[in-house]
Amino acid sequence: MIDLRSDTVTRPTPGMLKAMLSAEVGDDVWGDDPTVQRLQAVVAERAGKEAGLFLPTGTQSNLAALMAHCGRGDEYIVGQLAHTYKYEGGGAAVLGSIQPQPLENAADGSIPLDKIAAAIKPIDDHFARTRLLALENTIGGKVLPAGYVSQATGLARSRGLAAHLDGARVCNAAVASGQSVAELCAPFDSVSICFSKGLGSPVGSVLVGSEALIQAAHRWRKLLGGGMRQSGLLAAACLYALGHHDARLAEDHANAERLARGLAGIAEVKEVSQATNMVFVQFPHEDCAALEASLKARGILIQALYNARLVTHLDLNAADIDTVVEAIKSYFVARKS
Ligand SMILES: *Cc1c(COP(=O)(O)O)cnc(C)c1O
Repeated sequence: MIDLRSDTVTRPTPGMLKAMLSAEVGDDVWGDDPTVQRLQAVVAERAGKEAGLFLPTGTQSNLAALMAHCGRGDEYIVGQLAHTYKYEGGGAAVLGSIQPQPLENAADGSIPLDKIAAAIKPIDDHFARTRLLALENTIGGKVLPAGYVSQATGLARSRGLAAHLDGARVCNAAVASGQSVAELCAPFDSVSICFSKGLGSPVGSVLVGSEALIQAAHRWRKLLGGGMRQSGLLAAACLYALGHHDARLAEDHANAERLARGLAGIAEVKEVSQATNMVFVQFPHEDCAALEASLKARGILIQALYNARLVTHLDLNAADIDTVVEAIKSYFVARKS
C-alpha cells in the first residue's frame, strides 16, 4: 500500500529490526537499561539540554512536561491548533488539573505576541496562575519563524513563564530550516521529540530539559503508566532512527513538493499548499468518499476530506508520488466522462 494518511504509518526497516534484536536491555523502571540511558543521553546532547526521558508516546511526553511545569490550578498558554490542546484528549485539564488558555494561531502557526501578553494573568486570587507558554514546531508542517520563537519565549520569560516546545517534528524543522536541533530547542525549557513520525521508529518520544525538570517528569511518567521495563528494545529503534533516518527527511520534503506540484495541475483539487512533509488540499465535497474508495482499490490510502492532509515519509519514494498523482488525475477524468 502507498499510505499518505500520516508519517506514523512506517514499518521498521530490516536495519532497524536488527538493531532492536541486538539491543542490550535492563529494567528501565530500575534505571538500568543501558540502551534507554544511551538514547536519553544522545537526544539530550543533540538538543543541547542536560537530561532526557524516554516515553512511549508524544502525548504522554507533552503531558508529563506540562505536569512538571504546572501544578493544580496553574495555567498554560497554547495555540487553538496545538496538538497538546486539540489532539491529546484534554489531558492537561483532565489528568494535570492544569487550565489551558488557548489562543488563536496565526496563519504561520505562531501565536501573536500581543495576544500572549494580554492572556498572562496578574497574580490575584481570582485567576489561575499563568506558568507556561507552549509552542509547536513544526506546526501544520510549517517551521515557526526563528525570530518569532525568540520574541515569544523572551516575552514568556520576562513575565516569569517557562516555555515548552512540542517538537514532535523538530527534526523536520531542522532539516527544512538549516538550523540545528539544538538551535531550535535553545529558547525552550523543555522539548518533546517524537521518533514514531518522520524518523520511522515504531514507538517512542524523548522529553529533554534540565535535570530538575526531567526528574519531575520521571515521577509523572510513572504515575501516567509510562514506566517501561526492557524498553531498550524500543530505544534501540530510536537510536537507529537518529543515525539513519534524520538527514533523509529532506527526501520526504522533496517528495511533498513533488506531490504538491502534481496536484496543483489537477483543476478539481483546490488550495494546494505544502510545508516540510505535508501537503494540504481541498477535494470537492461530493467526491471525497468516492475518491478515497477509488484510490484504495489502487492500493493508495488517503483521508480524502474536504480539507485533506497528505503526508510523505520513509516508506514512500518519488515513483509512489507519481503513482498517486496519476491515480487522482484518472479518478477525475473518469468522473467527467
Ligand atoms: C504525533 C504528535 C504528537 C504525539 O502523538 P503520539 O501519537 O501520542 O505519539 C504530539 N505533537 C504533535 C505535533 C504530533 O504530531
